[in-house]
Amino acid sequence: MVSTRQDNYDTIIIGAGMGGLSCGAWLAHKGMKVLVVEQNLQPGGFCSSYKRNGFNFTPAASVLTGCTKKDSVFLRLTQQLGIEKEIEFIPIEHCYHVHLPDFDYYIHSGGEEARQKFIEQIITLFPHETKGIHAFFDKLEKFYQQADYATFLGTKPMDLARVLLKCPTLVKNMGKTIGPFVDDYVKDPKLKTVLTMNSTCAFLPPSRASLMGIVMLLIEGLISNATVKGGSQAIAEAFARSVRDSGGEVLLGCLVDKILVEDGKAYGVRVVNSPLAISKGTVSASEKGEEILGTHIVSNVAARQTFHNLIDADKVDRKFLTGLDKLEPTGPFCALFLGLDMDLKKMGFTPALHVHSSTYDIKEHFNNLEAKMVGEQGPDPCFRFHLAPLSDPTSAPEGKSAFMMHYIPAPSRGWDDPEREKKLVDLMIKRAEKVIPGLSQHIVYQEFWSPLTVDKYSLSGQDASMGWAITPEQIGPKRLAQETPIKNLVLSGHWTRPALGVLSVVISGLQAARMILESEGIEEPLADLGIKRGLMSK
Ligand SMILES: Cc1cc2nc3c(=O)[nH]c(=O)nc-3n(C[C@H](O)[C@H](O)[C@H](O)COP(=O)(O)OP(=O)(O)OC[C@H]3O[C@@H](n4cnc5c(N)ncnc54)[C@H](O)[C@@H]3O)c2cc1C
Repeated sequence: MVSTRQDNYDTIIIGAGMGGLSCGAWLAHKGMKVLVVEQNLQPGGFCSSYKRNGFNFTPAASVLTGCTKKDSVFLRLTQQLGIEKEIEFIPIEHCYHVHLPDFDYYIHSGGEEARQKFIEQIITLFPHETKGIHAFFDKLEKFYQQADYATFLGTKPMDLARVLLKCPTLVKNMGKTIGPFVDDYVKDPKLKTVLTMNSTCAFLPPSRASLMGIVMLLIEGLISNATVKGGSQAIAEAFARSVRDSGGEVLLGCLVDKILVEDGKAYGVRVVNSPLAISKGTVSASEKGEEILGTHIVSNVAARQTFHNLIDADKVDRKFLTGLDKLEPTGPFCALFLGLDMDLKKMGFTPALHVHSSTYDIKEHFNNLEAKMVGEQGPDPCFRFHLAPLSDPTSAPEGKSAFMMHYIPAPSRGWDDPEREKKLVDLMIKRAEKVIPGLSQHIVYQEFWSPLTVDKYSLSGQDASMGWAITPEQIGPKRLAQETPIKNLVLSGHWTRPALGVLSVVISGLQAARMILESEGIEEPLADLGIKRGLMSK
């Protein structure tokens, strides 16, 4: 028999990713009775860090883009919640260090000055393209300003009218991808590689990555990129604490296995002990579960899980499900964590995200994934080292370094074969050793995450990572809407609008909170953050 909790909540949030925590923190701050349910043993989802033998590894969101921008919505939010002092940002001057076959360069960060430095650097590398480079960045800047203006606007006629009137560059270019866009400005193929390199962060080739997504990564990144003392976990913990301090609850190690729906309306969830909690041995498998009732339900988990697994099939509109099945997720990735007894910072490595590409043809990295991954003969695929945490003294014991290497994109299948995994790990270490001589002799801790492991911690599905792929058809107003066909059920996070990335999902969480509070008759629920009628005050 399923028991029913006596307490009724105003809002139940499924998933303590940053899209769920920001929503929960704002609703609780506004006086709502909030419950956040998380299957992992710690909050944060892809904004988490994992402590292992004195090292602290951040497998996903290690660089917070746009959060430290002067007067950003993130800073306003943390100030309003009273948690700004708990999140100690560490600015990174060189956010990316990109290594190409015959030159390397930095993508700087830190405001107007950083953008100029970056532009000057690439003009020095490609002086014959000076005019095109300036024109490219001028257009991107205009695009960025207009996208920023439209951040909190929705798709109501009034909002669309404002966008049409005020954002001509955005409207004209938002359907484009970065590859062909760059072709209009410059000719040198190596420069095109430099200007489109950020598409690898979206796990897409330049011909498919949305211009809008790249503008947010590149232009916003040049303005503000930072890492956090204690890893991104510090952000998630501060938001979870805020929920609790405002009277809300955050349940960890608890899996929602059902959203309760009747007459087209969500009214609660069923919660069981999660496999992660059970595997720790602190709780046992509970088949009966507990039903918890709530007036509003927010799903911060994978949209496919929400509509295919958590709600009975006969309760979701067929046409909606067919549409959902046509959407394309961002592909999966692998991560290798190495604790090294060598001080990479002292050895001269820049605290940055290091991207290594053995070819100028970025799209090549997306072909023949399987063969490339374990093929020793061919050129090395694109690989990334996350060394931004080198600027955080808490990431490793004195004289040691937390080294994290990504394998992106990774094939989604075949991860149940331990031999294949071992071969890939050995190859990743060999590839890393070409950059850090002697690395294999200095490994004091090692852990590998395949897409199966990532799925265990995120429940995104082993073929997915950061929500829907950021193609022009799946970003901004075209992404899956936050409103759902089920009454009182809204979405937050990177499976819904506006996009992926910590700042974007925090915005989605605030938008979900706004919808809920407005439905309760509260006018302008984001006014304390300087957001009224969908516009953010400057
Ligand atoms: C490799 C990689 C690198 C990245 N780097 C950056 C970066 O440098 N900067 C940046 O800003 N962004 C980065 N991102 C993107 C960013 O991390 C994500 O877009 C963002 O953190 C997603 O937040 P979310 O709220 O949508 O959901 P998630 O983080 O996916 O959280 C969802 C939560 O729901 C829980 N859950 C799932 N199902 C259930 C259930 N049934 N019951 C209970 N709980 C459940 C999960 O355990 C998870 O904690 C990166 C992502 C990846 C994959």
